[in-house]
Amino acid sequence: MATLRFFALKELLNRKPLTIDEPGRLTSDYFGKFVFDRAKMKKYLSSEAYAHVMEAIEKGSRIDRKMADQIALGMKAWALANGATHYTHWFHPLTDSTAEKHDAFIDIDANGGVVEGFSGKLLVQQEPDASSFPSGGIRNTFEARGYTAWDVSSPAFIVGTTLCLPTIFVSYTGEALDYKMPLLKALAAVDKAAVDVCQFFDKNVSKVNSNLGWEQEYFLVDEALYMARPDLMLTDRTLMGHSSSKDQQLEDHYFSSIPTRVIAYMEDFEREAYLLGIPVKTRHNEVAPNQFEVAPIFEEANLANDHNQLVMDIMKKVARRHKFRILFHEKPYKGINGSGKHNNWSLSTDTGVNLLSPGKNPRTNMQFLTFLLNVLKAVYEHQDLLLASILTASNAHRLGANEAPPSIISAFLGHELNRILDELEETVPDKKMTPDEKTSIKLNIGKIPEILLDNTDRNRTSPFAFTGNRFEYRAVGSSANCASALIVLNTVVAEQLKKFKKEVDAMVEKGVKKDEAILQILKQYIKDTKKIRFDGNGYSQEWVDEAARRGLLNISSVPEALNAYLKEKSVKVFAANDVFNSKELEARVEVELEKYTKKIQIEARVLGDLAINHIVPTAVSYMNTLITNVQGLKDLFGDGDEYKALVGDRLELIKKISNHIQSIKAKTAQMIDERKIANKEEDMHKMAELYSEKVKPYLEDIRYHIDKLELIVDNEMWPLPKYRELLFAR
Ligand code: ADP
Ligand code: MG
Repeated sequence: MATLRFFALKELLNRKPLTIDEPGRLTSDYFGKFVFDRAKMKKYLSSEAYAHVMEAIEKGSRIDRKMADQIALGMKAWALANGATHYTHWFHPLTDSTAEKHDAFIDIDANGGVVEGFSGKLLVQQEPDASSFPSGGIRNTFEARGYTAWDVSSPAFIVGTTLCLPTIFVSYTGEALDYKMPLLKALAAVDKAAVDVCQFFDKNVSKVNSNLGWEQEYFLVDEALYMARPDLMLTDRTLMGHSSSKDQQLEDHYFSSIPTRVIAYMEDFEREAYLLGIPVKTRHNEVAPNQFEVAPIFEEANLANDHNQLVMDIMKKVARRHKFRILFHEKPYKGINGSGKHNNWSLSTDTGVNLLSPGKNPRTNMQFLTFLLNVLKAVYEHQDLLLASILTASNAHRLGANEAPPSIISAFLGHELNRILDELEETVPDKKMTPDEKTSIKLNIGKIPEILLDNTDRNRTSPFAFTGNRFEYRAVGSSANCASALIVLNTVVAEQLKKFKKEVDAMVEKGVKKDEAILQILKQYIKDTKKIRFDGNGYSQEWVDEAARRGLLNISSVPEALNAYLKEKSVKVFAANDVFNSKELEARVEVELEKYTKKIQIEARVLGDLAINHIVPTAVSYMNTLITNVQGLKDLFGDGDEYKALVGDRLELIKKISNHIQSIKAKTAQMIDERKIANKEEDMHKMAELYSEKVKPYLEDIRYHIDKLELIVDNEMWPLPKYRELLFAR
């Protein structure tokens, strides 16, 4: 019998929901308790130091050393009062998670005793021996020099007994080695470009924030079952497993009542999130069995992204208390829904205006249309970068694979908005407007109904959907650091807004009235962006064909998609907006290629191991029992017709099993050979391509035979938990 699997199933019978401690009566009583927020700064810092930090947060000014010491002192006092013993610079290296190296708050004083110490120098900068983080060759490992520097705009927080300082991670020569630094730069670029464009409409705007509301999807799996699945343990996804007779066909999981063990888990991690000031708001069952979602109230993008990374970490830890494991992989199970992380994105001004929300009068609506169309234009012009920023080894199973949406960027606007754009295209004349025309166009623009807000169409199949007051970038993968997508999105929008301003200025210089110039340019943008506007079913074959006719990109190969970063056009855009220089881009692509290659390599190894050491021996054992049975019948009945009639089906089965075993062995050997060839390749890009084209297909090939065996082999002998068990145990 397959011991581990049945042991795991037995464990399940004893699972009970945990009871969770209440940190306070009301959420507001303890929300942000472990965050060094403005209120706490005010309490723990001198008024001079407080003003200094505020200026750094709001204007991006530098923290000077003397002030840093004062701030460190206040922060230490707060941290010690809240049970912290250690501090760490918390950063986002180019791996799939965050990094931290803890140091204790201890110093040896003049008398040889121990005191709690923490200085401005330690607050502002740290030099972790970070030689093993991916750097794409920027930092030679033997130098191991990179440093982390405090990001004042994201508040410090305490996890357990450790004070965590959000930081950027850069090489000694200043190149970004993380996600945060380029994200901050992209946010600064879009801020500047958007403020400039806002001046056409409102001179009072002096800052534009980029906002992010992420919707995090995930799967839960019972810990015991997880431990019996080496593929889940090592690759976060199932590399084999026949589909369950019932999975999501009835759509009875989506929004249904949350299982008791799961709700206890959700409440537990939500409370931890609240203590850390993360405003998680929504929770529900997702489409696939054992798939769930959590979403917060949106925040400024850099903070929101820190919160997303932090919450993922908390969710992982808390899951273990509840004897669950969490799967952030985009496609842990073949044949059923994958997980995304919708990035709800908008731009808003320091005057309180959401630039992607229709306003109340012609002026604000014109501003809305301006931003809407500039975003569409940016997305259209840089589809390649958008794809490159979201395609990874794991997300490629969710986009562009079998039973998955295609890897095409299109934008959904909804019926109303499409009508408005079509009308605008028709009514704005190519020549100078008559006063009558102007009045009537403005009147129409003024009437852009605010009902757009309630009119958020539920087209779930669009990768980039306008939902009334924001764009919802749905193609982002559930395991991703949102920064990857947001760096690109904000950079290309910044670039486009700069172009737009230039175009308007040039026309105004030639004597065209500003409003008229804006309208004419927008009209052109409406024409230019028609190709990515698509409201139909984005998952259908018709759309794939239609998109090809429209000349839209459809790239699902990760190595191919990554090329976009190195195209001349992209290099220019990143440089012009001071987000990446070409060296950083090359390094980033190298890191991504390496990550991709290694992930496929690991999957191939795990599958090879499972196939040869788990599945084949099981199949052979079962075959042997069949052979014994056939042999026994022969002893009883002789080898005449009666015997033949009796054993026909088993002989067939023996042949089938034998054939599958042979195929598994032969294909595993071939896969290993392909790996050997690929591993000899010195060019990172070529190696990734070989893994994508020559190695990866074997994963499906081998799996096919294993899944067929699963249907034949005695259930009692099957070693790995089956899909029905993984998906329905909760
Ligand atoms: P859905 O119906 O798509 O699940 P929700 O109302 O749950 O939408 O919102 C999803 C996310 O979008 C939440 O994080 C929410 O705070 C965020 N969101 C709402 N408005 C905006 C906005 N203007 N900018 C950015 N994010 C927003
Ligand atoms: Mg949504």
